[in-house]
Amino acid sequence: MEQYDIIIIGTGAGGGTLLHKLKDSGKKILVLERGAFLPREKENWDSIEVFQKERYHTKEVWKTNGNSDLHPGTSYWVGGNTKVYGGALFRLRERDFERVQHSEGVSLEWPVKYDAYEPYYTEAEKLYDVHGKMGLDPTEPRRSAEYNYPAVSHEPRIQQLHDDLVKEGHHPFYIPLSIRLNEADKVHSPCIRCNTCDGFPCLVDAKGDADLNCVRPSLPNNNVTLLTEAKVTRLVTNSTGSEIDYVEVMHKNELLKCKADVVVVACGAINSAALLLKSFNSKHPKGLANKSDQVGRNFMKHLNVAMLGISTKPNPSVFQKTLAVNDFYWGDKDFKFPMGHVQLLGKSNKDQLASEAPFFTPGIVLDDMATHSIDWWLTGEDLAEPGNRVTMDGETLHLEYKENNMTGFNRLVEKWKHVLGKIDSGGSIIPRGVYLRKDIPISGVAHQVGTLRFGTDPITSVLDINCKSHEIDNLYVVDGSFFPSSGAVNPSLTIMANALRVGDHLTQRLK
Ligand SMILES: Cc1cc2nc3c(=O)[nH]c(=O)nc-3n(C[C@H](O)[C@H](O)[C@H](O)COP(=O)(O)OP(=O)(O)OC[C@H]3O[C@@H](n4cnc5c(N)ncnc54)[C@H](O)[C@@H]3O)c2cc1C
Ligand code: SF4
Repeated sequence: MEQYDIIIIGTGAGGGTLLHKLKDSGKKILVLERGAFLPREKENWDSIEVFQKERYHTKEVWKTNGNSDLHPGTSYWVGGNTKVYGGALFRLRERDFERVQHSEGVSLEWPVKYDAYEPYYTEAEKLYDVHGKMGLDPTEPRRSAEYNYPAVSHEPRIQQLHDDLVKEGHHPFYIPLSIRLNEADKVHSPCIRCNTCDGFPCLVDAKGDADLNCVRPSLPNNNVTLLTEAKVTRLVTNSTGSEIDYVEVMHKNELLKCKADVVVVACGAINSAALLLKSFNSKHPKGLANKSDQVGRNFMKHLNVAMLGISTKPNPSVFQKTLAVNDFYWGDKDFKFPMGHVQLLGKSNKDQLASEAPFFTPGIVLDDMATHSIDWWLTGEDLAEPGNRVTMDGETLHLEYKENNMTGFNRLVEKWKHVLGKIDSGGSIIPRGVYLRKDIPISGVAHQVGTLRFGTDPITSVLDINCKSHEIDNLYVVDGSFFPSSGAVNPSLTIMANALRVGDHLTQRLK
């Protein structure tokens, strides 16, 4: 069995970023990724393939709600879910790291605060080529530096929306985006600013993701070995249960055993918890590192609503996802509890709408909706609940989740409809000023976090403040699992920043 210094399992926002941080450490690193490189093919930008046929999602079936089938909207590729994400890379707010009172409960305090994360957020934004502009978002946390790249500009319809919102006293700002777009030199810009970005892979490799920004630049290093199509099936401890002895991995059709001084799990919050649970042994009978019985619990995925606002004005925007609003993040004058975050989505077309519409909806209606709609994504904070959890039944993954903390979030949805109604209304084939709300079902696990939370108390947390298991001395986790609470902005930048932070700790440990 070959011996490595570090094994990293998974190459998404957490694992890929950690690999990049450690690539020049001189340490012998083995990376195990269950997926392959995502193929570059015309279907990358085909909405029927991507949304209706779910070409890039796993075909794996989980269980939920007792024994019902669950087809998860998740992807296994080099780069993990960042291959298909929207690239909106937000920092959590300073207050998100504190104990926050919500209308229906409390979101937990983090054991490490914003100030400790700030330099790593800056490092992560640089690593992922984030474009943005500081000073516009009224809830923006302290920043030590401006973004390295200018914000992605609004197209005319979105600029008009921006101006209308400002007239009503709101504070729209540019979404911080990880795309390699050079608007000053379009000829040489890798990004062509197309209409198939959010939710699609990028055919021209211009979206910043964990594969392109982190994994591929690490591969020329002789100390780095990547095995793709290498699914880790079990972590095996030594006889006392104090350390991971070796990792069992199914590489293509061959079962391998791999050994390292340090093992870092980064399979995504659901699969990391599943791996620890199914690796139980006599020293860890409820699953690895699970004396606390917290492994797999406290699963969060945000409260999410996709909203289609049908406007009187046509919306010819190509790349629409440039504007966000946090004016109600912490509440409003009538409601003193957090409500959530509002951002634009990529512009939907008729084929994307068709994947959600009843089969009898005529194409002309879908076309009219698509050409007049503005697409929004609203996110609220769900609270950690022990009953929202991952369990394993043999090899079958069960995911149970009940929404909570909906009062503030429903107020946000109503508030936003009201704001949009004030700046636009009217009528045509379908009535204008109509807002179609689509709640995201349990299969929408894009923002999965929380299943192995970090903390100082081994009774209530699984990981310590360096994201090392309290119980197993060489086991770390660097994906979204460690979040004690979810905030209401997209999670990836925090996962990346945390992986960089843990990378510094590991560099010290392995010196
Ligand atoms: C459509 C979509 C849009 C999104 N948009 C945004 C956005 O705009 N902004 C944002 O911040 N977030 C966004 N997200 C969420 C974002 O993609 C995730 O937060 C992020 O990728 C999570 O990082 P992770 O490291 O926890 O897990 P992942 O990125 O999922 O990585 C986990 C990796 O582990 C691998 N793996 C799993 N199990 C095993 C195993 N047993 N053995 C070996 N390898 C394994 C997987 O193949 C994968 O590569 C979006 C997600 C989706 C699906
Ligand atoms: S908008 Fe740019 S980054 Fe996004 S898919 Fe198109 S070319 Fe790629």
